[in-house]
Amino acid sequence: MNLEQINERVHACDCGNPHHIITIERIVASEHVWHELATFVYEKSWSRLLVIADSNTEHVGFLPLREALTGIGIDVSLVSLQADDQGDVLAEERAIVQVLLHQESTVDALIALGAGTIHDVTRFCAAKTKVPFISVPTAPSVDGFTSKGAPLIVRGKKITYQLVSPMAVFVPSQVIRKAPDALIAAGVGDMLGKYTSLLDWQFGAYDGGEPFCPVAASLTEQALQSCVDALPDIYKRDADGLDQLMESLLLSGVAMLIFGHSHPASGGEHHLSHYWEMDFIANHRPAVLHGTKVAIATMELIDSYKTTILNGPEMPDTLQAWAEQMPRRQELESIFRTLRAPLRPEEIGISSLLLASSKREAYRLRERHTLLKHMSLNRTETEVGERFL
Ligand SMILES: [Zn+2]
Ligand SMILES: [Zn+2]
Repeated sequence: MNLEQINERVHACDCGNPHHIITIERIVASEHVWHELATFVYEKSWSRLLVIADSNTEHVGFLPLREALTGIGIDVSLVSLQADDQGDVLAEERAIVQVLLHQESTVDALIALGAGTIHDVTRFCAAKTKVPFISVPTAPSVDGFTSKGAPLIVRGKKITYQLVSPMAVFVPSQVIRKAPDALIAAGVGDMLGKYTSLLDWQFGAYDGGEPFCPVAASLTEQALQSCVDALPDIYKRDADGLDQLMESLLLSGVAMLIFGHSHPASGGEHHLSHYWEMDFIANHRPAVLHGTKVAIATMELIDSYKTTILNGPEMPDTLQAWAEQMPRRQELESIFRTLRAPLRPEEIGISSLLLASSKREAYRLRERHTLLKHMSLNRTETEVGERFL
């Protein structure tokens, strides 16, 4: 990913919205990433680092990371986030307090060693204590690594805070390529959710006057298309395919970063996913991977989204063209079946009642003019019952 080139495109964009220049200094994906990370830390003259992980990610990456850093005289300590009674590590108050209790004032920087949750917690703590953080993704499962957004659960409600992006990203390719199938399928889910999120964003701009940036949209589209092109390699777990999946997820995060909000990468499908997540937390049920929920939510919405735009009155050509090339539910099902991922809400424990209420209510979670909101508000009870729910 050429960050300089992206910054130039952002600089030249005349969409009228405030843009955020990318301040990430380095994105490296390599089998020798621990050495490169140590060189970066040395260049910064840092001497004390705190690594945030959980028991799984500690296992896959902490030893080589510590070895590389202590080898150049850096003091490295670890906080391993504790799982709750359901065995989940959540990005919520307890995890944040656990990190802050370990974070002494002499710590120069934090390192997020893990996937989405670890990054959300680290990003929050780094922003609040005003120290930089380094991202070390351990699975290609989610697209938030490079963004500023930290979706946190606060008193049972999922709220996304715009905070800080990492100072650098170091992807240990050998770890990414060994990620469990479920995390890889979740990453593909978070990426393919861009079909509906990009449609929602264009619809929100056209019908609701929401801010829209063509550069951020085209970067997200590029990330989505590269992921789709890599699917045959991802199915085979080829190194090239998994490296590309990671690259797509990082690029999608960069698109959110330059726009400053999650519009490019999060539409109605994410709102359904957030609604289900909050219901699971309220009922003390084990968490389901973010990308797994997004994949299922995208499959739930995509045919209705397509029909609404293609049959809608006077929809602009760009919206029609995007809706036209979107896959149908059946095609998405075939992709996720090949990835051995769940296809239907009931397979991850979402009842027909929860599904119905989410389709009616989830749009209220965010101030966004999405097709999900449009469909929820515009259909009569009968139509909703027959065609949407
Ligand atoms: Zn997502
Ligand atoms: Zn722009």
